Amino acid sequence: MSSTNENYPEIREAVAKLCSNFPGEYWRALDDTDTYPTEFVQALTDAGFLSVLIPEEYGGAGLPIEAGCVILEEIQRSGCNGGACHAQMYTMGTLLRHGTDEQKKKYLPGIAEGSLRLQAFGVTEPTSGTDTTRIRTMAVRDGDDYVINGQKVFISRTEHSDLMVLLVRTTPRDECKKPSDGMSVFLVDMRECLGKGLTINPIKTMLNHATTELFFDDMRVPAANMLGAEGKGFKCILDGMNAERILIASECIGDARFFIERASAYACEREVFGRPIGQNQGVQFPIARNYIEAEAAALMVYNAARLFDAGKPCGSEANMSKMIASEASWHAADTCLQTHGGFGYTQEYDIERKFRETRLYQTAPISTNLILSHVGIHELGMPKSF
Ligand SMILES: Cc1cc2nc3c(=O)[nH]c(=O)nc-3n(C[C@H](O)[C@H](O)[C@H](O)COP(=O)(O)OP(=O)(O)OC[C@H]3O[C@@H](n4cnc5c(N)ncnc54)[C@H](O)[C@@H]3O)c2cc1C
Repeated sequence: MSSTNENYPEIREAVAKLCSNFPGEYWRALDDTDTYPTEFVQALTDAGFLSVLIPEEYGGAGLPIEAGCVILEEIQRSGCNGGACHAQMYTMGTLLRHGTDEQKKKYLPGIAEGSLRLQAFGVTEPTSGTDTTRIRTMAVRDGDDYVINGQKVFISRTEHSDLMVLLVRTTPRDECKKPSDGMSVFLVDMRECLGKGLTINPIKTMLNHATTELFFDDMRVPAANMLGAEGKGFKCILDGMNAERILIASECIGDARFFIERASAYACEREVFGRPIGQNQGVQFPIARNYIEAEAAALMVYNAARLFDAGKPCGSEANMSKMIASEASWHAADTCLQTHGGFGYTQEYDIERKFRETRLYQTAPISTNLILSHVGIHELGMPKSF
């Protein structure tokens, strides 16, 4: 294949080997019962793949985000689903960049060795959605604690995580100079809060993603668990979001490669009218087009990753690469399903499962329209529509 998948060959090989122990049957069985892939996540943890971005002084491998991209890309390419655990890589960054030395020493070694799970990132609310500055969940100081009331929706993996990075308001929006002021971030130990002000309800969705809604009813969190300065939480979250977008864009590249490899293999082997269907240009060209699109997207993703690793601004690059990669994966998913004819719809080929899984990235963690709006405003200087 191409030069866009030659970086970190040893990591690619090791991830692919691990993933071969978790074939389609494993994922199908979980999908049928909406069950979390505990064994898969444990295997990734034991192999150290989820802690590659944690600095060596805290027990991780201290590798750049590009290595995280390679890991997630290979997971997706093999037909597995990194959505079950990808958050650990980017939420950890909020703690690493904005946590105090004490907070980092307290949590990072446990996360690196796998005894502590940091898989949840709580931003979205039912009434604010994409308009993050309108979140209503409120934390009010009371002695050494903050008391939190409110609600979140679509917060994934909370039932399979010990810690959650949570965005709340500490000052109401209308009392702030800027809408993005007055928000703060907490590292919530859900083991301590569950049943004491924290309620978690699972939400069934079209894919097996362990997503939930959360209710906070006088939930107490120690003030010592605030990450970064009070009122400056939006900035902490934005830093983490660039990492999130780059890593998820890599998952999309992996998905695109999964679909392209499956489609081209099937197009060579399936014979109709006495010849392989892939001999027909009507079948062959869409797959070739998907390949070109995925290659171009991969260049953008690795460019964004390298800017991130160099500590350079990369907000637009992270967003643009997430959009182009999610479009490459979605187009490849559609072609792959079409190439498989009726068999694409059967569960045993795993195409319909991956089709449902990759569709999510048009909407989460940021929807395509919001990326277009970011580019229109920040890259092209056009007026904001909202
Ligand atoms: C399976 C799943 C898992 C998720 N996991 C998490 C998680 O772990 N943590 C978390 O915090 N969130 C999570 N989310 C939430 C996700 O990030 C949001 O769904 C997404 O950001 C969109 O927000 P919304 O659903 O409120 O849509 P809305 O904000 O209601 O938007 C609806 C549609 O309108 C469009 N739209 C809105 N405003 C504009 C505008 N001004 N211009 C043009 N178009 C606009 C949007 O692009 C979108 O297509 C998850 C969602 C899903 C489905």
